Amino acid sequence: MAPTVNRRTIELAGLAVPLVELTGSADGPLLTVIAGVHGCEYASMAGVRRWCRDLAERDLRGRVRAVPVLNLPAFRSRTPFVVPDDGKNLNRCFPGTADGTLSERLAYDVFHQLIAGSDAYVDAHCGDMVEALQPFALYEAGPAEGRARELATAYGLPYVIRQESGPGRVVAGSSSGAAAEAGIPAITAEAGGCGLVEEHAVAMHVTGLNRVLQVLGMTDGQWGAASRPTYLSRFVWLRCDRAGWWEPAVTAGQHLTAGQLIGTVGTLDGAEVQETITAPADCVVTFLTSSPAVSDDGLLIGLGSE
Ligand SMILES: [Zn+2]
Repeated sequence: MAPTVNRRTIELAGLAVPLVELTGSADGPLLTVIAGVHGCEYASMAGVRRWCRDLAERDLRGRVRAVPVLNLPAFRSRTPFVVPDDGKNLNRCFPGTADGTLSERLAYDVFHQLIAGSDAYVDAHCGDMVEALQPFALYEAGPAEGRARELATAYGLPYVIRQESGPGRVVAGSSSGAAAEAGIPAITAEAGGCGLVEEHAVAMHVTGLNRVLQVLGMTDGQWGAASRPTYLSRFVWLRCDRAGWWEPAVTAGQHLTAGQLIGTVGTLDGAEVQETITAPADCVVTFLTSSPAVSDDGLLIGLGSE
């Protein structure tokens, strides 16, 4: 029997955010799925939108709460990375504060109204407007990491990265990190990028979410097991010192050997190379800033290694 579907808006920090609630005909876990924490990550939003439509027609055990586009101010103004109202990266603000800036209040409301109480949590992302990306899933260290690793593997992307908790963490304040600290198995799934809605990336999210349902016992298996990913234990982000013109010499998904040229940052007049960036170890390029425009301490590239 098809689930009961309730499409409504939920008020989060004063924003009327679209929410799809699906209640299955039998009991089961509560899965929460969010896309659009970053406002120009369209492939992940498109994936969640399509998945919700498909799911409305299928058998479901348990409940799904899905937000296809969370960061409405960024989405509407086509602002990558941050909430335009306060310039903060929403995915560095979790679990948020009730009386902070818009990003902090939004994180607080999302955490308390959507993430808390879930049996599993998926935060669907891709490269933002100016990021090329090799698909990967991050899972969070912590009490629920065994289950989180299963979910990350089931999503079916070529790489799976364990995100350390505490000081070793590359990204602090993420929604999946906050979920993991609350004991909820949580993953960040990344496929797509560069402000594009590419069918293969959208399909990766749809299939990944279906396989997550399968692992949670919320749907009958018809997607099969995902092929085994490569597990990466180190995740390193490289930044430039000074603003300039970024010219990568590598592409997302490329395997690099230690010392290999990654790219240069030069002066805007084209006369000089300011910085030469090389690979610190044998690694794979998980994401890459595709825009030449980089600021002081600008993010250039994300590398994963075994
Ligand atoms: Zn993102």
